[in-house]
Amino acid sequence: MDIQVFPAGPAATNAILCACTRTKQAALFDPAHGSGVLIIKHLSDKAYALNGIYLTHSHWDHIADIFALREKFPHVPVFVHKADAGNLQEPGSDGLPCPLTIPPIEPTGYLEEGSEFDLGDVRWHVMHTPGHTPGGVCFYAKEEGVLISGDTLFKGSIGNLSFPTAQPERMWPSLKRLAQLPSNTRVIPGHGEETTIGQEAWLERAEQKFKNFYSA
Ligand SMILES: [Zn+2]
Ligand SMILES: [Zn+2]
Repeated sequence: MDIQVFPAGPAATNAILCACTRTKQAALFDPAHGSGVLIIKHLSDKAYALNGIYLTHSHWDHIADIFALREKFPHVPVFVHKADAGNLQEPGSDGLPCPLTIPPIEPTGYLEEGSEFDLGDVRWHVMHTPGHTPGGVCFYAKEEGVLISGDTLFKGSIGNLSFPTAQPERMWPSLKRLAQLPSNTRVIPGHGEETTIGQEAWLERAEQKFKNFYSA
């Protein structure tokens, strides 16, 4: 599997393109603002086919370039958890101040706990990890040992729990679930550098560590 991370936009959000190197089927996780043009070029350079856009959650910085990608690929499906769909259909309705004008997008389908999809030879599993938002999910490629963690887990930190739709009490069980993954799991977060589950030894006691902490 080929993984390419494109940090983009005012919040340096990671847009993550994952492709099966054999079949050249690609999935895009979180089209950050300004990432679209880079991703379109990368797809063309590598002769990858974009199979779908998958959202870890619907904060504006993770959905901003869906429209730009849809202009190039009008039929590419867009998937989000139902509990986060509202801010896709009406960007800004989650109450988070948004510095951009983002056109509404109707999701093609919904992700939920236990959803699976195949991208060429790679099988992705959806873990519903609410907390940062009600419909937050992580994408787990079990065989490859890769987790796309969105704003649930960062290197050394967690996503903000003071935003309007955050549910801090649901975050702790979500993080405990991630702590159960194999320690060598490669974690590619929604912002910042990648890490591994093993490096984040605090995950089991995240509640004690972050109870009164709200990151940027
Ligand atoms: Zn977020
Ligand atoms: Zn974010």
